[in-house]
Amino acid sequence: MDFELTPEQAAIRAAAREFAEAELGDKIAPYDASHTFAADIVAKLGPLGFMGVLVPEELGGAGLDYVSYALIVEELNRGDASVGITMWAHNSLCTNHINLFASPEQKRRWLPRLASGEILGAWGLTEPGSGSDAAALRTRAEAADGGWRLNGSKAFITNASVGDVAVVMARTDPEQKTKGISAFIVPKGTPGFSTGTPYRKLGLHASDTAELIFEDARLPADALLGERGQGFVQAMQVLEGGRIAMAAMAVGIGQAAVDQASKYMKQRSAFGKTLAEFNGLQGMLAEIATEVEVARLLTLRAAWLKDAGQPAMHAAAKAKVFASEAAMKAATKAVQIHGGAGYITEFPVERIFRDAKLTEIGEGTSEIQRMVIAREILQST
Ligand SMILES: Cc1cc2nc3c(=O)[nH]c(=O)nc-3n(C[C@H](O)[C@H](O)[C@H](O)COP(=O)(O)OP(=O)(O)OC[C@H]3O[C@@H](n4cnc5c(N)ncnc54)[C@H](O)[C@@H]3O)c2cc1C
Repeated sequence: MDFELTPEQAAIRAAAREFAEAELGDKIAPYDASHTFAADIVAKLGPLGFMGVLVPEELGGAGLDYVSYALIVEELNRGDASVGITMWAHNSLCTNHINLFASPEQKRRWLPRLASGEILGAWGLTEPGSGSDAAALRTRAEAADGGWRLNGSKAFITNASVGDVAVVMARTDPEQKTKGISAFIVPKGTPGFSTGTPYRKLGLHASDTAELIFEDARLPADALLGERGQGFVQAMQVLEGGRIAMAAMAVGIGQAAVDQASKYMKQRSAFGKTLAEFNGLQGMLAEIATEVEVARLLTLRAAWLKDAGQPAMHAAAKAKVFASEAAMKAATKAVQIHGGAGYITEFPVERIFRDAKLTEIGEGTSEIQRMVIAREILQST
């Protein structure tokens, strides 16, 4: 067993860390406070290759492996999770769906611009009436005038209002359940396609989350992504990689909580000692740092399985549920270590605490991950 990163992976992680330290962290505070999408910061990711991490080089991407990708996602989210989720939702969901299942012509049309960061991608599976039960989606795509007509809406979509193109799952055959769902590439500017006002969220204030709305939206025949009826199967494969990215996001947030807790323990004094000298707080710090490390190992193992071409669904679910709960616990303890200072916006730990919660909800909640893991155990024993 080899725990060493390759020199390339180590260099990629260093580049992502350097970017996060220079451009994220405290610099995100004004965007977070004003609920403003950090467009100018996100624009800096493309030239670094971070907007097309998994896209082959011949299509303008960085052509990197999943381990490298997980390392980049962790480092960016350690700096700031709003920019982090913007980046990985673009990479893992929209761009990767096209990368995995689009025709050569569709790939040539969309991937170079997505990978360079010239355009931003969104991915719509969740609807107002269906989240965990994704197969119950009701957005309808009917064949019409040699193309498609879409009606319905998608809820909670990352990059929805700031994105330039969305991959959207819609029902093409109402009498079928999962096999009646197909995927479509829907560019901004499509007649009948609009987006809602961005939600006011608990955390991730500098990221964009909004509805996608389809009112007789007209699409050409070649908007269909892959085969008709395969959209749900495709989406589940996309989510396998997406859950690894969400796990890496949680590792980054958890590590940020550990960083802030350690920093504060050294600077704050009580009873004539620094907080760092109190055994109880040392124990708390040790516990959260250990759990974040376990989360990192589970995440990198899931990424390694993907790179090895092995099934990674269950490993991704285990990494995602553990990492997200470790991040939430680390953030809670880090706030506790800050005392009253942890409850005000002056210290980054308050933002980290709010941002962490999403990792237990998005890309399949903790309950859904446990269901996936338990099913596998019950089937294989
Ligand atoms: C900030 C943000 C960004 C997002 N980005 C995207 C995106 O880009 N694209 C996209 O498609 N979606 C996105 N989502 C949606 C997200 O994936 C869903 O919110 C999530 O899957 C949960 O679905 P739901 O909200 O409908 O909750 P529900 O499915 O209504 O679940 C409610 C509760 O019931 C529990 N539950 C449901 N079913 C079961 C079960 N069988 N057993 C036990 N418990 C169960 C859940 O765990 C949860 O606790 C985003 C959400 C947020 C908040």
